[in-house]
Amino acid sequence: MVKILLIEDEVAIQELIRFNLEKEGYKVLAAGDGQEGLNMARNEKPDLIVLDLMLPKLDGYEVCKALRADKATAKFPIIILSARNEIVDKVIGLELGADDYINKPFSPKELVARIKARLREQKRHDQNSTAQTVLTFAELEVWPDNYIVTLAGKPLNLTTKEFELLYLLITNPNRVFSREHLLQKVWDYGATGDTRTVDVHVSNLRHKLQHMGRTIETVRGVGYRFAAGN
Ligand code: CA
Repeated sequence: MVKILLIEDEVAIQELIRFNLEKEGYKVLAAGDGQEGLNMARNEKPDLIVLDLMLPKLDGYEVCKALRADKATAKFPIIILSARNEIVDKVIGLELGADDYINKPFSPKELVARIKARLREQKRHDQNSTAQTVLTFAELEVWPDNYIVTLAGKPLNLTTKEFELLYLLITNPNRVFSREHLLQKVWDYGATGDTRTVDVHVSNLRHKLQHMGRTIETVRGVGYRFAAGN
């Protein structure tokens, strides 16, 4: 039975979601604050988490961050549910590693549809990742199927684009990529994209890679390369 963990402090909303999900045949576990939700996620290993942002004890951002920072829970799909609908929240939520975002008030039907879509995607993903290749370079480990990078065993909090950028560079050691080429490959932009996007992401990525950041070298007048030391 598919298990969904619902972390939501408003009882009425909790009940509404529970009713609609149980109707679809899902098993619903509910937590009323962030700390309880995080504990339940760790113990129950749900197939998906519906996470409210404004929560007592530990807010949704902190819950999301804690889940993503732990290899055991990093892969759980998370759909953020929130009354705060400013675009900035959405961006922060997605950067923290949430998979989807729904604003309150929402229609239960839409929530169910998004949950189904996410579970389907996860299933496809699991089927493809039976033989995952982990790339290792010095203290860095890159887990392509989960979009996880660890430095000395500790997961780094990379955004999807930062991950894709690192992945492309590290799988092509010493090859020099122009900014335009990176824009095309990672952002899927044509020649019209702004190459400063690349510079900003490289800079953030280097920062997050800490002392390993220097492996991403600037090649003056051209672009970047992953310096694998030969
Ligand atoms: Ca709330």
